[in-house]
Parts: sequence; structure tokens; C-alpha cells
Amino acid sequence: MKRIAVLTSGGDAPGMNAAVRAIVRKGIYEGFEVYGINYGFAGLVSGDIRKLTPKDVSDTIGRGGTFLYSARFPEFAQREGQEKGIEQLKKFGIEGLVVIGGDGSYRGAVALTKLGFPTVGVPGTIDNDIPGTDYTIGFDTAINTVLEAIDRLRDTATSHVRTFIVEVMGRNAGDIALWTGIGSGAEQILIPEHDYSIENVANEIKRGRENGKKHTIIVLAEGVMSGDELARKLWEHDEDFHTRVTVLGHVQRGGSPTARDRVLASQFGSKAVDLLKDGIGGVAVGIIGDKVIYSDIVDLLENGKHLPNLDLYQLNKEISF
Ligand code: ATP
Repeated sequence: MKRIAVLTSGGDAPGMNAAVRAIVRKGIYEGFEVYGINYGFAGLVSGDIRKLTPKDVSDTIGRGGTFLYSARFPEFAQREGQEKGIEQLKKFGIEGLVVIGGDGSYRGAVALTKLGFPTVGVPGTIDNDIPGTDYTIGFDTAINTVLEAIDRLRDTATSHVRTFIVEVMGRNAGDIALWTGIGSGAEQILIPEHDYSIENVANEIKRGRENGKKHTIIVLAEGVMSGDELARKLWEHDEDFHTRVTVLGHVQRGGSPTARDRVLASQFGSKAVDLLKDGIGGVAVGIIGDKVIYSDIVDLLENGKHLPNLDLYQLNKEISF
């Protein structure tokens, strides 16, 4: 294998640039020519592909987003798009591909794998919802961004003796809510992987007030319901409950990656190159404990399931009253 390529796909995540940088630099170090594909699978199909030099990735390690751009390109779910993508890769003489993204992007990588093209997945999404790894690139930065926002809200919540609902990202996974709920000392955390009842939420708020708490912070993963919906349900339960809702939205996605995300991205990028060098495709890299590992990507998507650390959910109950 002489030429490899990299693309970023799905939602951008801080640290994607650091991963691309590592792939380019390590790839060249190992004797490859490395190509960058713009706009994810859309650019793969249209042939928006260029050779990257070590200088092209200078000054990118600390930048959020992705300088290769990303795109949602549902057409890649069709065989026709996938075959066109492989044709483009062959046209450029590219023999191995690294796909950085979330589970949708992994499906694209699986499609290429099934068509016989050596592809390596790198988990890049702030949601931390990918099987086969404890952490994804961007999660650490996102939770630190959310924490900073909640710390600010807490000042206002305390000053006005108010209940704040903070809606954070996480359609299917409660990791962002769990980690930021504990890190911010939130009174309640609501995640898709755990039942809740409005009555319990309301009782906990009351109990906190009776214990002399001046504020209540509820961190809510968007996959449970919207912040407005929770506010309405609490009010319907008890008309004395007046809550303020903050939806953090896309501010959670951007920003300069933390040290942890930069290092993780560099480790993942380097491992992806090692795998292609050894002729191993059809896999995804990850970190389990402190070991960088790889797993069969088809098996991950078909049988793997990401579960948040539910011990953290229990821990918050024990220390937040
Ligand atoms: P995030 O979790 O951050 O949103 P993601 O990678 O899951 O990231 P998606 O929009 O779901 O984001 O997927 C990214 C891209 O992967 C899609 O736009 C599409 O090009 C490709 N893709 C998604 N599903 C499939 C599929 N079933 N087959 C082939 N390609 C797919």
C-alpha cells in the first residue's frame, strides 16, 4: 500500500483536526502518500480529493471543527454511491481509507469494507456513543464546554433561588448529561438509558429546597425530551414549579480541543495508519482502559452496544441531595 486517504464525516467534533494531522504525519513518516477528502462521503463520490503535506496540517492540532469539512450525504447508503466512491479512490491510486466520524459514518465505512476496500474507522463524535471504545474524540472537550456553561447558570440559579433545566446533546446516549451533571454538582440527571418519573423529579426538587438548597440544576439529555417539555410537565405536576430552560445546542460542538482530546486523536490517528500499514482493514480503533485497541467494524455495528457508566447515575443520587 502506497497511498491512503482520510475523511471526516457526520457532526464535527473537536479533535478531528488533531486526528487528521496525526494520520498525515504518521502516514508520511511510514512512507505513505496521504490524501485528504473534503466534505466526507460527498467529497469521496465527487472526487474532491487532494494530496496533503506535513505543512498542510501545521497549526491545526488546536483548532475545533474539521478543516476537511464534513457533510451529511444520505446517498452514500445506496450501493451506487459506494461504488462511485471506490472508483474515485482507485482513480487516485488510493488503497486504504480512514473514516473519522460517528456511527452513521461507521456505516459508510462498513459499506466500503463489504465491497472489499480496506477501511479503518476512528470514533469522532461529541456524544461518546460508539461501541468498541470507552471514549470518542470530542467528548472531553464537549463536557468541559458544557460544565463552563452550567457553572455560569449556577450563579444565577443561586442568586434568584431558581430551578434551571439545562438541555444538553445526546439523542441516544446520556454520557454528556451524566458527566456534566456530576461535574457541575447538578441535583438531577435525566438520560435516555434510565427511567424517570416527573413525581420523583418534583419530589427531589422539594427535598432540596427543604434542605436549604438555593438552586436546583437539572441536566437533561435531549433524547429524553426537550427542556421545554420537561418544564411544562413539572408545571402541570405542580403549578408552583417555575423553571428556566437553557438549551446549549451547537455551542457544545465547537471550540479548541482539550489536551485529552488532542492526545486521544493523535493516538487513534497513529493506530489507524499502523493498521493499514499491516494490511488490516474492516476495523475501528478505540481505547479501552488506557490501551488503544481495534475491533472488527462489521461486528461492532451489528452486535456492539454503547452503554454509559450507570454507576455514575447512582453516584449522583448519593451525592447531590
Ligand atoms: P454524529 O453522531 O456526530 O452525528 P454520524 O457519523 O453518526 O455523526 P451521520 O449523519 O449519521 O453522522 O452519518 C454521516 C454520514 O455517513 C452520512 O451523511 C452518510 O454519508 C454516511 N452514512 C450514514 N448512514 C449510512 C449507511 N447506512 N450506509 C452508508 N453510509 C452511511
